[in-house]
Amino acid sequence: MTLITATATATGSSTASALVFALVLGAGYLAACVIWPFCACRHCGGTGRFVSPTGRAWRSCPHCAGTGAKLRLGRRIYNHLKHTQDRDRTRRPR
Ligand SMILES: [Zn+2]
Repeated sequence: MTLITATATATGSSTASALVFALVLGAGYLAACVIWPFCACRHCGGTGRFVSPTGRAWRSCPHCAGTGAKLRLGRRIYNHLKHTQDRDRTRRPR
């Protein structure tokens, strides 16, 4: 009987520590998205262009419009939530 109680307590603690770990990891990712909102475009590798096999011609990357940078997923979510919140704030009668 004592063994069952000890096992149940250990599982609850494990779940709580996993939740805390996930929250800390998520907060770190959000902080990184605020500090470094862009990442390299995965299609062109951050160069913003595709070079022909001869190396003499190139075209702009259509995925990043030639900038070589893309907004990170976390920053896109943050911007969407922020714009939604701003839009709701302006629509609300005072
Ligand atoms: Zn690109």
